[in-house]
Amino acid sequence: MRFSSVLTAFLLAFFLVTSGTLICTAAPAAADATPAETSESSTPTPTPTPTPTPTPTPPPTPDCRAVTDTRTWSATKTPFVVCSIAVISKKHRVNAAYKPRLVTTKLATSGISKARLQGSAASAFKRLFAAAKKAGYKLAVRSAYRSFASQKASYRRNKVTTAPAGASEHQSGLAADLAVIRKGRVVYGYAFGRSSAGKWVNKHAAEFGLILRYPNKQNKVTGIPYEPWHFRYVGVSVATGVRATPTKTLERYLKVS
Ligand SMILES: [Zn+2]
Repeated sequence: MRFSSVLTAFLLAFFLVTSGTLICTAAPAAADATPAETSESSTPTPTPTPTPTPTPTPPPTPDCRAVTDTRTWSATKTPFVVCSIAVISKKHRVNAAYKPRLVTTKLATSGISKARLQGSAASAFKRLFAAAKKAGYKLAVRSAYRSFASQKASYRRNKVTTAPAGASEHQSGLAADLAVIRKGRVVYGYAFGRSSAGKWVNKHAAEFGLILRYPNKQNKVTGIPYEPWHFRYVGVSVATGVRATPTKTLERYLKVS
């Protein structure tokens, strides 16, 4: 009996050691041991090399620029759009069916009874006018939206400085010709460009998402000679980008001709 008890105890101890139970239960005692003792008495466990988590690479942003105008004539009822920006020029025309949604703005006007623009452009010009007023300039709109028919009539009267019907940004309702009212007189055209108000507008336009659409000496790029009065809404990000190009033209920024 005594021998079998010893044998049972021995077998139980053996079982516990081999199964690891004894090691586990004895583990808390090891916590009291100094780190030196622990490292001496135990075989160092090799630290598993952590698998580096691959950094997700963002998908490359497709460059929306440098596209070709592939619209058929019937498709020109909508403009040539590059990176969500409508490009209307002699090379990228629209037909008489293009009629954008417009709002009538409450901006000061000169030479026209009211200014109609697309909503986004109207609010940009409103903010520009308010900031100009704070700076001491009373701006006025000389021309905003012009229909295909009215552009046709303007072109018939003046073929030199007027774009043919379908080639004018004014049909988009995104552009306006500006002037300043100074001492009761309207200063417009090149005189506006030379005025301190015109210079102020040119300097601050991008902050409101507007660009001077036809800069000086860039008619080879834009197809239109210098027009210091013609401003176009493109949004702050594009306006800032256009300003950063050497030519300051929408065409070069969008990489279109
Ligand atoms: Zn204009």
